[in-house]
Amino acid sequence: MKNCLIENDLHEVGFIGPKYTWCNKKSGGARILERLDRCFVNSKALSSSHRLVTRHLARIASKHCPIILNILDSFPRIKRNIKFEDCWVSYKASFAVVKKEWNSIKINTNGPKISHLLFADDVVIFYKANKNAIKKVKKILYKFCNWTGQRVNNSKSSMLFGKHVDRRKKKSIAKIMNIKTVKEFNYLGIKMALRRLSYDDFQFIIDKTLKLLNIWGSKILSVAGKITLVKSVLLALPTYYGTHLLVPKKILDDLDKICRDFIWRKSDGTSGIHYVSWEDMCKPVNKGGRELFSCAAKKKALRSRMSWRYFKNKDSLLHEVFAAKYGEKLKMGSNRINYSPSWKLLNEGCNMLKPIVRWTLVNGEDVDVFKHTWILDKSINRWPTFVVPHKEEAFYVKELIHNGTWNVPKLFYMFGTDLVSLILQLKIDQGSGKDEMELVQQKSGLTVAGMAFNALNHHNSELYHWNWFKNIKLNARVKFFWWKIFKNAIPTFKYLQQRRLRDNADCPRGCSAIEDQEHVLCTCLKLKEVINLLNHWGFCIPKFQDYEDCTKWLEMISRKRGLVANLYCNAVFLSWKSRNKKIHEGTEESSTFIASNAICYTSIHNNFSHFSSGNWDVNQSKRLSNSWKPPPPEWLKVNVDASLLTSYKAALEGVFRDCKGRFLYALESNVFIGILQIWSFLQFTL
Ligand SMILES: [Zn+2]
Repeated sequence: MKNCLIENDLHEVGFIGPKYTWCNKKSGGARILERLDRCFVNSKALSSSHRLVTRHLARIASKHCPIILNILDSFPRIKRNIKFEDCWVSYKASFAVVKKEWNSIKINTNGPKISHLLFADDVVIFYKANKNAIKKVKKILYKFCNWTGQRVNNSKSSMLFGKHVDRRKKKSIAKIMNIKTVKEFNYLGIKMALRRLSYDDFQFIIDKTLKLLNIWGSKILSVAGKITLVKSVLLALPTYYGTHLLVPKKILDDLDKICRDFIWRKSDGTSGIHYVSWEDMCKPVNKGGRELFSCAAKKKALRSRMSWRYFKNKDSLLHEVFAAKYGEKLKMGSNRINYSPSWKLLNEGCNMLKPIVRWTLVNGEDVDVFKHTWILDKSINRWPTFVVPHKEEAFYVKELIHNGTWNVPKLFYMFGTDLVSLILQLKIDQGSGKDEMELVQQKSGLTVAGMAFNALNHHNSELYHWNWFKNIKLNARVKFFWWKIFKNAIPTFKYLQQRRLRDNADCPRGCSAIEDQEHVLCTCLKLKEVINLLNHWGFCIPKFQDYEDCTKWLEMISRKRGLVANLYCNAVFLSWKSRNKKIHEGTEESSTFIASNAICYTSIHNNFSHFSSGNWDVNQSKRLSNSWKPPPPEWLKVNVDASLLTSYKAALEGVFRDCKGRFLYALESNVFIGILQIWSFLQFTL
């Protein structure tokens, strides 16, 4: 049988339906089922483009199943991976075909022609809405598909027509291309539409935010946890859109409001008191904020990045298009408002760049003497000088340059001696190019957007507790609690009384004193009990008279013995928690419990090896023993870490340990910039 099939070139076709096609029609053990009836075709039929399917139909009267052979038109669409091969580029004919046929589009008369934009597997083609022209495009695409084996997915492609194309033309062109017509589409996540985008177009950002909030819930999150979520997830959502599109201010404001409400919402879902203002929360940590960076505030700074690229990559398409259209206007910054959204985005970015870039002079044609930065790191307008601009209109540096050198008499006529000597130190490049920009703080490690944001926010340097407070390495929740104490934003009874939410302000623990910030921080009897216990156990914490006394001690001690400061902070936090328990549940924890808990909290976050308790290895922090490997015997290991501030002030710290990991010596120093200096410092210490 097998040989007969092979000799006659017969092959079986796959089938659908019941497995057996014949039955002897008996029941129980005597029943026999077999696949007797089969369908065979020769190899010519098999290799044809038609799809062959045999179907076993249900058995009705006969012992045999009827079999039907379907000859379907074509193979089903197979999902293919599209891969680009370099050799296509080397196929010369492809260039020639495109060049001959393509009729690309200009955005403005002087600008470059744009025919297409390619990014990964996204292709945008620009073309005139003209029937013959579209036929050519179709031909090119067809040829391309033939050469490469790729296919255009018509159902995923779409066509967008300009405003002046009439309906009939649109219809016939769509018919030629067999692609649907749309009014807007998304390219790389950004909406493209031939109109100004409105609030509704960005509603999806709000929806996304609300969806996330629903998933998270707010019942089991602490406020510190919520702040972290808001900072790293919610406020980052509109970053991409805000950089590339004019997102309406209302969307950003709404988003800020949602975040605010989420942070302060009570665990039962009702809205809570906003203890600290949103503006304060948005300040950087060292200025007393929580570094939240509201969407509305940072959108301008984000755009500076794009403008910086515009100026630096002169070969980019972005530069070619906009330089031809807006030219020098962008460089100087103009406030005309009836330009396109792209102009607004770039222009806003340019304005943001002004305070963070310095000009290197070639001919001084583009540099405004008073408004631009060209001496040190500020523009003259922002200096406390006695220079009075004698002209209202722009005054360029080129007027101070004569034959490639400084015009000294004119400089002396305009500025004082100190400023002139500064200016004379500046080099004028003798090249033929134009004045160039460079970043003032290019070595600070910040991004362009980061610098622009810092320059935008001149928070007055309030000398709060923030600079020393960060030295005390605290648990995030404890840190947040202390931050609220410094802001006078914890719901003490005095605080609630002032807001008419309570009648009396006496301490709930029966200290017969008014419960305010100072009382919570140092004078409450319960807290004193806890501190006494800690002192009894061998820690040295003084007794404080008032708020100032306490913070002064913390500031002093945070520099030397961060551990004791940490312990005190934890004790105050736990005492406050216990006080809340008394109010809400009626019971309070004992002083011993609070004191021992405070030590627990401290030991988790600190390395106890500073304490010469004898059992130093017991308290080695887990992190250190996991990653730190000891040096070979008779060697010392030095772990050094350094940090560089934006002021170019650097700090260097190091720890010496021996082969058993014993702590020998630690060094710490503030040095000024210069790697060599750091090395010489190290050599000196060794
Ligand atoms: Zn009290």
